[in-house]
Amino acid sequence: MPEGLIVKALSGYYYVKPDAAAEDDTVQCRGRGILKKQGVTPLVGDHVIFTHTENGEGILEQIQPRTTALIRPPVANAELAVLLFSVKEPDLNLQLLDKFLVHIEHAGLKVLICLTKEDLLQEENDEKDALTTQVEQMYKEIGYDVIVTSSVSGLGTEDIKSKLQNKISVFSGQSGVGKSSLLNAMVPELALETGIISMKLGRGKHTTRHVELISLGNGGYVADTPGFSQLDFLELGVEELSSCFPEFVAYEEQCKFRGCSHLHEPGCKVRQALEENKIMQSRYEHYVQFHEEMKEKKRRY
Ligand code: GDP
Ligand code: ZN
Repeated sequence: MPEGLIVKALSGYYYVKPDAAAEDDTVQCRGRGILKKQGVTPLVGDHVIFTHTENGEGILEQIQPRTTALIRPPVANAELAVLLFSVKEPDLNLQLLDKFLVHIEHAGLKVLICLTKEDLLQEENDEKDALTTQVEQMYKEIGYDVIVTSSVSGLGTEDIKSKLQNKISVFSGQSGVGKSSLLNAMVPELALETGIISMKLGRGKHTTRHVELISLGNGGYVADTPGFSQLDFLELGVEELSSCFPEFVAYEEQCKFRGCSHLHEPGCKVRQALEENKIMQSRYEHYVQFHEEMKEKKRRY
């Protein structure tokens, strides 16, 4: 039986790209059988076995085991999350970046931080330039992959594209940071609509709530979705929070108390590392903020 990849889900249909087919050919499949057999809802990103029906459509027969499954956005087998933040327009928001990172660490995906619109820094020699360099260095030190890009000059485009090769990635970032522009720069044939107009209307371009994988033509697929921007901390336990800050982990093993919250306990090695400037001030501040936010949520639910 043929195998393939679900690249789109819409109105009860799953669009499957057969492994053997050319890039753009998909088979429109129904999924009803699969729900009965496996009791699972197919997701975009699922590798499936399907059969052809007489009317040229298909039926999903089996879903192959998943490596990851995200709820928001609903995507299976994503390996990498690309977090896009513009260096200007809108300004870098490190709190939001750290919040995204917590969720991605928790979901177990690899991360690529992408700082977009680099060309805007060259127009005037402002302090944002220094900040960008600093942020790039600091997050690299933590161990994250950071790429600075410009869809105007083409800086970083090929670099990003090669990192997305042969895997499924999720693009996340606020509206207006340049997700569509970067995808267009990587794959000019896409010609995705970009621009301010849709933002001014306040609802972005994702009016239809469907997820689709965009083929980069190098075996890489990208799910362009606003999903991660509506994150809350409901699925994450407060005691798991510090493990989502990779640079804390080495220190917290030596904290005096097991289960140290790193807020006020004596003998806390995380706070000591902070004082010795081995941990970024802003990262620790965001840890404290998220901790409070999570406690607050717990109280309310
Ligand atoms: P999205 O909402 O994240 O998909 O963002 P868009 O790709 O639609 O871009 C939002 C706005 O930023 C548009 O006006 C783009 O022209 C502009 N933009 C995107 N990328 C760049 C860039 O690299 N440099 C500059 N100067 N502007 C950009
Ligand atoms: Zn501690």
